[in-house]
Amino acid sequence: MAKPPIMPTPPLKPATHPLERLPEEWSDVLGAWGEPRYRGAQVFGWIHKRGVFDPAEMKNLPKTLRARLAEEGLSLPVSPVVGPPAGDDTRKVLVTLHDGLSVETVLIPELIRPGEEEELEEGWEPKKRVVTQCVSSQVGCAMGCVFCASGVMGLKRNLSAAEIVGQALAGRAALPEDQRLRNVVLMGMGEPLANYDAVARALMLLTHPDGLGLSWRRVTLSTSGLVPELDRLGRDFGGKVQLAISLHAVDDERRSALMPINRKHALRSLVAALKRYPLPKRRRITIEYTLMAGVNDSLEDARGLVRLLDGVPIKVNLIPMNRIEGSELRAPSAEVVERFREELYSRGAPAFLRTQRGDSLAAACGQLALRGEGRKVKRRPLPKAR
Ligand code: SAH
Ligand code: SF4
Repeated sequence: MAKPPIMPTPPLKPATHPLERLPEEWSDVLGAWGEPRYRGAQVFGWIHKRGVFDPAEMKNLPKTLRARLAEEGLSLPVSPVVGPPAGDDTRKVLVTLHDGLSVETVLIPELIRPGEEEELEEGWEPKKRVVTQCVSSQVGCAMGCVFCASGVMGLKRNLSAAEIVGQALAGRAALPEDQRLRNVVLMGMGEPLANYDAVARALMLLTHPDGLGLSWRRVTLSTSGLVPELDRLGRDFGGKVQLAISLHAVDDERRSALMPINRKHALRSLVAALKRYPLPKRRRITIEYTLMAGVNDSLEDARGLVRLLDGVPIKVNLIPMNRIEGSELRAPSAEVVERFREELYSRGAPAFLRTQRGDSLAAACGQLALRGEGRKVKRRPLPKAR
């Protein structure tokens, strides 16, 4: 028999919404109502595994308990509006929150390569296409990165754990029959480590085997590099959370101009934190590098990246800059991008290109909710590429 997964036990702040309760916490609540503890896992399973919020449908619960749960109110704390599929089946979901603010989440089915269609049809049970969901952690973002729509918007507020996991529950419910939610990346709006407590609880909810049951290897947190919180994440979760680090420049002068957080946590201290992160064997840290023409796209930058991260097991995701309103920053030509990628590869850093199509996680994330905001990017002079 397969061993049950070992769950990390991070210290968590108390749940603030019924959707945030883990099975044990449900047992405590139900225990106080005079119910046996095992009902906790049942209620949790109805909500998080089956996506059922109406207690009337929770067939294995006694009527009295269903009535009590109905009083409690178990609705999804977000209202999703699923957009039409793009050419590659990627779909954006606009999620409205109780206070009228909104965030976005994106469903990205794995691409089917030519020739693979038949394989999907074969057998009694056609293979389901696996889907990656890009989830937001805040409304807007306080980090102020100059190339990012969320940064331009500024921080409106943190999302609760219920609102974060609610995006995944809404996303999963929106999938067609032949698709299966397998990966969640915290790469939408917001800086997840600036909303640590809600994100930590959301991670526990997303990966609980009685709920959505995502594998820890399939949950990725993307951060601009908040060093103390990175250390805390490593400690609290024993390195189980997959990391993606937004690097974007390999010297402090340029990184600080692009990403103000670098003035607080400079590259040396970020790299030291990555070296300390208790990364499991054979895993790599993803380095996200948004290529901006004339800013960070020289071959010397590629070499600098490899030197800077020497000793850290990495793979690099190259994201051609996705233009945002009011900013002059743009992607380099396809040739420049390819040469940059090859330079990394030839120096032993596996590097992959995220294109600007819908399947680009970064291109798909962080753009939608800015529309209608009407704010312009502040013009700041950027240091030139070396
Ligand atoms: N705050 C986190 C996660 C959200 S941003 C972080 O910064 O890592 C997700 C990714 O999208 C980051 O790597 C970010 O740098 C990138 N990104 C943001 N705006 C972009 C744009 N206009 N073009 C390309 N990548 C962008
Ligand atoms: Fe925030 Fe990430 Fe955008 Fe920077 S790139 S402003 S950290 S969401």
